[in-house]
Amino acid sequence: MIKYGDRLNGVNPRLQQVVQLAATLCPIDIYVIEGVRTIERQRELVAAGKSKTMNSRHLNGGAVDLWDGKSWEREKFMPIRRAMLDAADRLKVNITHGADWNRNGVIEGGRDSWDYPHWQIEP
Ligand SMILES: [Zn+2]
Repeated sequence: MIKYGDRLNGVNPRLQQVVQLAATLCPIDIYVIEGVRTIERQRELVAAGKSKTMNSRHLNGGAVDLWDGKSWEREKFMPIRRAMLDAADRLKVNITHGADWNRNGVIEGGRDSWDYPHWQIEP
Protein backbone atom coordinates (compact mmCIF):
# COMPACT_ATOMS: atom_id res chain seq x y z
CA MET A 1 0.00 0.00 0.00
CA ILE A 2 1.00 3.59 -0.54
CA LYS A 3 1.00 5.96 2.43
CA TYR A 4 0.68 9.71 1.84
CA GLY A 5 -0.13 9.02 -1.80
CA ASP A 6 -1.45 12.58 -2.15
CA ARG A 7 2.19 13.66 -2.16
CA LEU A 8 2.44 12.16 -5.64
CA ASN A 9 0.28 15.01 -6.97
CA GLY A 10 2.09 16.84 -9.75
CA VAL A 11 4.71 14.12 -10.16
CA ASN A 12 5.32 12.88 -13.71
CA PRO A 13 2.37 10.54 -14.49
CA ARG A 14 4.65 7.74 -15.72
CA LEU A 15 6.65 7.90 -12.50
CA GLN A 16 3.40 7.85 -10.53
CA GLN A 17 2.38 4.69 -12.41
CA VAL A 18 5.67 3.06 -11.42
CA VAL A 19 5.12 3.89 -7.75
CA GLN A 20 1.50 2.64 -7.89
CA LEU A 21 2.53 -0.67 -9.45
CA ALA A 22 5.52 -1.00 -7.12
CA ALA A 23 3.18 -0.68 -4.16
CA THR A 24 1.27 -3.75 -5.36
CA LEU A 25 4.50 -5.73 -5.78
CA CYS A 26 6.21 -4.62 -2.56
CA PRO A 27 5.75 -6.77 0.59
CA ILE A 28 5.84 -3.64 2.77
CA ASP A 29 4.03 -0.30 2.65
CA ILE A 30 5.67 2.46 0.64
CA TYR A 31 5.60 5.90 2.26
CA VAL A 32 5.88 8.92 -0.01
CA ILE A 33 8.19 11.46 1.61
CA GLU A 34 8.10 14.09 -1.08
CA GLY A 35 7.32 14.61 -4.75
CA VAL A 36 7.19 18.06 -6.27
CA ARG A 37 9.22 20.77 -4.55
CA THR A 38 8.87 24.52 -4.81
CA ILE A 39 11.96 26.57 -5.59
CA GLU A 40 11.69 28.09 -2.10
CA ARG A 41 11.76 24.69 -0.45
CA GLN A 42 14.71 23.63 -2.60
CA ARG A 43 16.61 26.76 -1.53
CA GLU A 44 15.93 25.87 2.10
CA LEU A 45 17.16 22.30 1.61
CA VAL A 46 20.37 23.46 -0.08
CA ALA A 47 20.93 26.07 2.64
CA ALA A 48 20.47 23.36 5.27
CA GLY A 49 22.90 21.03 3.48
CA LYS A 50 20.13 18.50 2.80
CA SER A 51 20.37 18.89 -0.96
CA LYS A 52 23.36 19.84 -3.03
CA THR A 53 21.74 21.17 -6.17
CA MET A 54 19.32 23.82 -7.36
CA ASN A 55 18.72 21.63 -10.44
CA SER A 56 16.81 18.99 -8.51
CA ARG A 57 14.44 16.83 -10.52
CA HIS A 58 11.93 17.40 -7.74
CA LEU A 59 11.38 20.91 -9.06
CA ASN A 60 9.74 19.73 -12.28
CA GLY A 61 7.96 16.65 -10.94
CA GLY A 62 10.55 14.22 -12.23
CA ALA A 63 11.47 12.76 -8.86
CA VAL A 64 9.95 11.22 -5.77
CA ASP A 65 11.37 10.19 -2.40
CA LEU A 66 10.15 6.92 -0.84
CA TRP A 67 10.84 4.96 2.34
CA ASP A 68 9.32 2.28 4.54
CA GLY A 69 8.17 4.75 7.18
CA LYS A 70 10.45 3.21 9.79
CA SER A 71 14.18 3.03 9.10
CA TRP A 72 16.88 4.93 7.24
CA GLU A 73 19.22 1.93 7.16
CA ARG A 74 20.28 1.19 3.61
CA GLU A 75 19.16 -2.44 3.60
CA LYS A 76 15.66 -1.39 4.68
CA PHE A 77 15.24 0.35 1.33
CA MET A 78 15.87 -2.87 -0.60
CA PRO A 79 12.28 -4.23 -0.75
CA ILE A 80 11.14 -0.89 -2.18
CA ARG A 81 14.11 -0.85 -4.55
CA ARG A 82 13.29 -4.31 -5.89
CA ALA A 83 9.62 -3.39 -6.35
CA MET A 84 10.41 -0.08 -8.06
CA LEU A 85 12.91 -1.63 -10.48
CA ASP A 86 10.50 -4.48 -11.24
CA ALA A 87 7.58 -2.05 -11.80
CA ALA A 88 9.67 0.23 -14.02
CA ASP A 89 10.80 -2.76 -16.05
CA ARG A 90 7.22 -3.98 -16.55
CA LEU A 91 6.02 -0.51 -17.55
CA LYS A 92 9.11 0.21 -19.69
CA VAL A 93 9.86 3.40 -17.79
CA ASN A 94 13.48 4.47 -17.45
CA ILE A 95 14.11 5.42 -13.82
CA THR A 96 17.21 5.91 -11.70
CA HIS A 97 17.54 5.14 -8.01
CA GLY A 98 19.52 7.53 -5.84
CA ALA A 99 21.47 4.49 -4.65
CA ASP A 100 22.90 4.19 -8.16
CA TRP A 101 24.40 7.65 -8.60
CA ASN A 102 27.90 6.27 -8.85
CA ARG A 103 27.12 3.34 -11.08
CA ASN A 104 25.08 5.40 -13.51
CA GLY A 105 27.25 8.49 -13.30
CA VAL A 106 24.24 10.61 -12.41
CA ILE A 107 25.49 13.78 -10.84
CA GLU A 108 22.49 15.21 -9.01
CA GLY A 109 23.70 15.47 -5.45
CA GLY A 110 27.25 14.73 -6.55
CA ARG A 111 28.81 11.47 -7.63
CA ASP A 112 29.72 10.48 -4.10
CA SER A 113 26.32 11.16 -2.70
CA TRP A 114 23.96 8.22 -2.28
CA ASP A 115 20.34 9.05 -1.79
CA TYR A 116 18.38 5.90 -0.99
CA PRO A 117 14.87 7.40 -0.84
CA HIS A 118 15.30 9.16 -4.20
CA TRP A 119 13.86 7.98 -7.53
CA GLN A 120 13.79 9.94 -10.75
CA ILE A 121 12.46 9.40 -14.24
CA GLU A 122 14.89 9.81 -17.11
CA PRO A 123 14.00 11.68 -20.31
ZN1 LIG B 1 14.77 13.07 -3.96
